[in-house]
Amino acid sequence: MKELSYKERFLRSLRLEPVDRVPIPAFCTHPLVELMEQTGLTAPDIHYKQDDMVKFALAAYEILGLEGVRLPTDGAFEAEAIGCPIDIGARDRNPSVANHPFKLNDIRIPNDFMLKERIPIYLEAVKTVKRLVGDDIPVTAHFQGPVTMASQLVGAETFLLGLTDKKKEIKALLDIVTEICIKMGNALNEAGADVLQFPDGMATSEIISPQMFEEFVQPCFQKILWSVPCPIVLHICGNTTPILPSLKEIGAAGFSFDVKVSVSDAKRILGTEMSLIGNISTQETLLHGSKDDVHRECLAAIRSGINVLAPSCGFAPHTPLGNIKEMINTAKITSDR
Ligand SMILES: [Zn+2]
Repeated sequence: MKELSYKERFLRSLRLEPVDRVPIPAFCTHPLVELMEQTGLTAPDIHYKQDDMVKFALAAYEILGLEGVRLPTDGAFEAEAIGCPIDIGARDRNPSVANHPFKLNDIRIPNDFMLKERIPIYLEAVKTVKRLVGDDIPVTAHFQGPVTMASQLVGAETFLLGLTDKKKEIKALLDIVTEICIKMGNALNEAGADVLQFPDGMATSEIISPQMFEEFVQPCFQKILWSVPCPIVLHICGNTTPILPSLKEIGAAGFSFDVKVSVSDAKRILGTEMSLIGNISTQETLLHGSKDDVHRECLAAIRSGINVLAPSCGFAPHTPLGNIKEMINTAKITSDR
């Protein structure tokens, strides 16, 4: 097989077409402190200044060696633009929603939220990165999933209690945030992202039962995934084994999952429907493990049929770059399964 470009290998892997080896694109957030030190960049500037956002995204490809560029490094963009107060974080702490000002029975979204706060910076950064890396390097961008976004707006407790005693209001809220997801997804696609990642950590089976997932979440996911004409990878952390069967028909190009889900279970249930992405432990292995641990876990994931090698969730800020480089090396030298 002729040498594939990083983008071609990634896209083929998403389409479940033959490849020479697993790709290891930039996938999940990487607010890495060691990478900030090597580039002279820092947080929160990498989250708030367009040039720094672009340089930091490029550094993960140029310096670290990940096979693609990904941005942004936090998941508070949409909630911030809609009106949630933000804690801007620190060098090793991402911006996050500081409190939840919306009432379940009174959700008013500013019509011009796509023009507010960091969203224009983010969209411009995607365009710039795309222009700079050319056509052989995949650009991945993310937009927040509806369950997480709904929880950011009204608070997780209000959202979760509402699933049983305020179903009508919760469904109305999910309809609203689903439209926001569709707008963000389409804007990122138009800005030039080759692949979109769609993380929704709050939709995990550790928080939402499979029955509630089917009733409340699955219809939103389907609507979003069918409304954005770009390969989209759903990411849900934690143990999602109970909902794997429900993910079959949602229309995602791939599913990016946690180390708590076994690759062979995911392969058995979803393997003919979508690409499987993951699932190297971000805490035990990548943050605290040795290079040997990283190598072993990557090799096991590849041998079990993972299609795209990636961390099980966002990289922890203090993850040693050496461990991520070991992931990359293992992907590159492992051609057979
Ligand atoms: Zn995650």
